[in-house]
Amino acid sequence: MSKAVVSGLYDSDVFRMACRQFDQAADAINLAEDIRDRTKYPRRCLAVAVPVRRSDGSVTVFEGYRVQHSLSTGPSKGGIRFHESVTLGEVAALAMWMSWKCSLVGLPFGGAKGGVIVNPRDLSLSELEHLSRRYMQELIGFVGPEVDIPAPDVGTNEQIMAWMMDTYSNHVGHVSPAVVTGKPLSLGGSEGRREATGVGVAYLVGKYLADMKVPVGGATVAIQGFGNVGGETAIALSLMGARIIAVSDYTGGIYNPAGIDIKKALAYIRYAGVLKDFDGGEPIGNEQLLELECTVLVPAALERVITKDNAPRLKCRVLAEGANGPTTNEADRIIEARGDIELIPDVLCNSGGVIVSYFEWLQNLQSFYWGRDEVISKLHAILDKAKDSVEYQKRKFSFGRRLAALTLGIGRVAEAKQKRGLFP
Ligand code: NAD
Repeated sequence: MSKAVVSGLYDSDVFRMACRQFDQAADAINLAEDIRDRTKYPRRCLAVAVPVRRSDGSVTVFEGYRVQHSLSTGPSKGGIRFHESVTLGEVAALAMWMSWKCSLVGLPFGGAKGGVIVNPRDLSLSELEHLSRRYMQELIGFVGPEVDIPAPDVGTNEQIMAWMMDTYSNHVGHVSPAVVTGKPLSLGGSEGRREATGVGVAYLVGKYLADMKVPVGGATVAIQGFGNVGGETAIALSLMGARIIAVSDYTGGIYNPAGIDIKKALAYIRYAGVLKDFDGGEPIGNEQLLELECTVLVPAALERVITKDNAPRLKCRVLAEGANGPTTNEADRIIEARGDIELIPDVLCNSGGVIVSYFEWLQNLQSFYWGRDEVISKLHAILDKAKDSVEYQKRKFSFGRRLAALTLGIGRVAEAKQKRGLFP
């Protein structure tokens, strides 16, 4: 029975969903009562007002957050999201998942996440720069290479990381590349970071298909979300010989059973900004895409898109969670009961991003840079080890794969907290 005295500060559907996942995992490993709440709830959070002078001379104040879930095993780590639907509860849930993910794959980081309630497409480039810099300015004192290291997430990119790194560096008086990851190569970014999450998703999909004795060459793939993760997953899987039959962004999707020309689709997005009206297939809605018959379904946009309503209708063999938290608790139960879908849970599936962010941080701290082949082979080695540990845990305790991954991640964070003890 929880004895936590907590307000509804983080209360939201997505935070409750992350808490239910935690409770289930904590029950499954009989996590001691006196460590549960300490492991579950975020360590601290910051809410900031971010005033930005607009191109017409007016000022708009945006609200932003940073949540640090765990700082017990090292600095906290996690992306920054610029999206109109950001809430403190969502950021807290995403920070929680980052803790379990870093722990599962063995990185010396706790979890964190940040967000600003803004549609970045509504801002000019210079307004976006002001927002990014002012948000980082408000975070100084709360972040740093040994405290908390942001990275890109939905709506943010390498250029935004560059502005944030510059703002922080100006404040401390010297170049401090290790304060953020996902930077451009010219500022200490890592080879392989831009594509790391998608390359990791594709690598794990390839491994699971091999376990199922399904050749990746004959596989069909549908991907919801065609940004960093979705786009790079599409490139990597098509290079492996899979046929990408559907992709989508917030404007809707494209379906082509003969296979979409991914290079052409990405070139179109660079030119048009959105996928809408790309002529490489038939238009398809985001919800319809999820229910397509395909070998692999990759949600790579936002949370809670696989629900109790569409879970019974999924027609994929592998559900590879490129996004964080795409599957609700109810949908999880339905998928597990169906037993015909191999789920690769988010904390494992999309961990390639934070793994290569870790490499970037290491390279920045040492001022010693690695080539792409070295980065990717080190990434594969960590993913192999994490996958093996999840499969072992799954078999040993007859858990579903999400529960196996979460119990490993949560168990290790709880053990570290237990060993450190309570301060004072
Ligand atoms: P991104 O901003 O580069 O791309 C997001 C994509 O999702 C865009 O194509 C956007 O149009 C689309 N989208 C937004 N709202 C949508 C909606 N309602 N329906 C359909 N599509 C929608 O973001 P990203 O970095 O690719 O992140 C995508 C997901 O992957 C998020 O859940 C993020 O937390 C997770 N993730 C990202 C990384 C990373 O390295 N960037 C690492 C791990 C996990």
